[in-house]
Amino acid sequence: MNIYYHPQYNINLGLLSYLHPFDGRKFSKVFKAIKSLDGIDIKQPGGPVPQVAIDNFVGGIQQKLLHEKRYILRALEIPYIPLLPFSIIDKRILLPMRWGIEGTIEASKDALKGNVAWNLSGGYHHATPRNSEGFCIYNDIGIAVQEMLATNLISETDKILIVDIDAHHGNGNAYTFMDNKNVTILDIYNNDVYPQNNYTKNRVNIDVPMAAGTEGTQYNEALKNALDKLDGDYCIAYVVAGTDVLASDPLGRLGLSISECVERDKLVYEKLQSLSIPAVFVGGGGYSSESAQAITESIKCLHRLDESESVRMDSMR
Ligand SMILES: [Zn+2]
Repeated sequence: MNIYYHPQYNINLGLLSYLHPFDGRKFSKVFKAIKSLDGIDIKQPGGPVPQVAIDNFVGGIQQKLLHEKRYILRALEIPYIPLLPFSIIDKRILLPMRWGIEGTIEASKDALKGNVAWNLSGGYHHATPRNSEGFCIYNDIGIAVQEMLATNLISETDKILIVDIDAHHGNGNAYTFMDNKNVTILDIYNNDVYPQNNYTKNRVNIDVPMAAGTEGTQYNEALKNALDKLDGDYCIAYVVAGTDVLASDPLGRLGLSISECVERDKLVYEKLQSLSIPAVFVGGGGYSSESAQAITESIKCLHRLDESESVRMDSMR
């Protein structure tokens, strides 16, 4: 299993951290906890995603908006601060996200070679080519698909699967792939929180709305039933593995424990493995102090499963 991480992923909000619940150092905490695991391969993306890849993805108006302070602060859910220069926001918040997008691109290419890949960052599922919101500025999965098409790693007819297990509905992914019938979306989310968007919810192929406060047993049962509807006809699957499903999360408002969150990721991993679908896990949301621990435990669990799967495959050769 290959983990994508770079020290540049970490978001240092400084004084702004009081204005947003996101733990920008989460990635480094996970990295420290997993770096010495036997057989784990931690790969660093080569740089932030090139600006041209973003420009090719977004429309002309959005291209301009991505350089406007008021627009970006609104999307980041940070109040307008007159004296704060855009260059600081860009360096402290947007640049780490662009490193994260490159992580998703490189993890995608890795998955196509047969590896299970997990990018600690990315999973910006509220952003679209035309809009940024919900702490998501750029849609990394959309950009990764664009880059794989441009380099002929996949073709226009290849089918892509998105399994969105973040607590929030992935309105950005649904909008981004609204007219692309080759993309199948399975989305399980808290139906009682942001974003309340029926237009994008209608795009979801396997739609699993949950009530606020739903606990882990019921959640994982619903997820399992949804996963059972999948077949194996996909060249790649993205898993938006947000940990804001934890009961301790102030925004997700679902009721999973850490072990139930690990079980959730295991269910997805095992289903994708059984269908031989290359998997890319991406970060998504997660705003509780338990988020880093939950990600760490999931990676440890999937890594163990992945190692034993490799041993099994080797013994069959
Ligand atoms: Zn979320």
